Amino acid sequence: MDGPVELCVLASGSSANATYISSGKTRILVDCGLPAREIVRRLAEISVDPKSLDGILISHAHTDHFRSAGTMFAKYNIPVHTMAETEDAILGKPSCGSFWRVRDCRRFPERIGDMDIETFDVPHGGGPLDSGRPVGFILKSGRSRIGHVTDAGELPAPFVRALRGVDAIVIEANYHQPVVHKKLRDPSFADYWHYLKWVDGPTGHLSNGQCVEALAEIVTQDTKAVFPAHISENHYNTRRDNNDFTTASSAIALQVAGMGLRTKICRTYRREKTEGQRSELVRLD
Ligand SMILES: [Zn+2]
Ligand SMILES: [Zn+2]
Repeated sequence: MDGPVELCVLASGSSANATYISSGKTRILVDCGLPAREIVRRLAEISVDPKSLDGILISHAHTDHFRSAGTMFAKYNIPVHTMAETEDAILGKPSCGSFWRVRDCRRFPERIGDMDIETFDVPHGGGPLDSGRPVGFILKSGRSRIGHVTDAGELPAPFVRALRGVDAIVIEANYHQPVVHKKLRDPSFADYWHYLKWVDGPTGHLSNGQCVEALAEIVTQDTKAVFPAHISENHYNTRRDNNDFTTASSAIALQVAGMGLRTKICRTYRREKTEGQRSELVRLD
């Protein structure tokens, strides 16, 4: 039986990412970075049986995006798709998690069930051996289009143009640039400078400012929901965080309001058990 188009970010952050997207008929996960039991638990909260998933799409070769793909494949027989370069990079890592269990990792098809899959290369990571070939997605079914992009140093203009007017988008707002720039001037953060320079660079992550700038081009009156994602709040000492949900979502809310739009900004959560919980389930029609 067909249901509505649905979207739920099961977790997003530097430690784990997974997003559930359903066309009503076809059900997929974009990234599979939570431990398998946590994916199953969070899917159960929204009444989704993992056996009913039609595919897993892996954006790139960082553990927080592929961690349990092998377990989900072996246990529930869900096809796993990614770029050839990304598969090679994952299998080349000493810690490829359970990925060796994916017996026949597939390329991205143009379509899974009634869902069209479009991929866009994004610059991210330390080269092919580190991140493989990172991509963002546009998933389309019927009249609904959903964008999904995290882990990108910059958003290529053709991708931004293609995202214009999507019904919903999961988009990275990784760090608050003033915080990172302040740390880059503070010698007590010297141990992090190399990492922080990468985060802020063209193959690192999207800042709140970059996210807002992209959304100014992407969001239209057709856009019902924005999920700020991969927010860097990954330190045990929160004073070391580069961002937080309130800062990211306020910047986005200001932009959207300034455009005279009423797009909903949806809460997302990181992985950790104590604070971690899935985002709300958004229905698009
Ligand atoms: Zn990541
Ligand atoms: Zn990454």
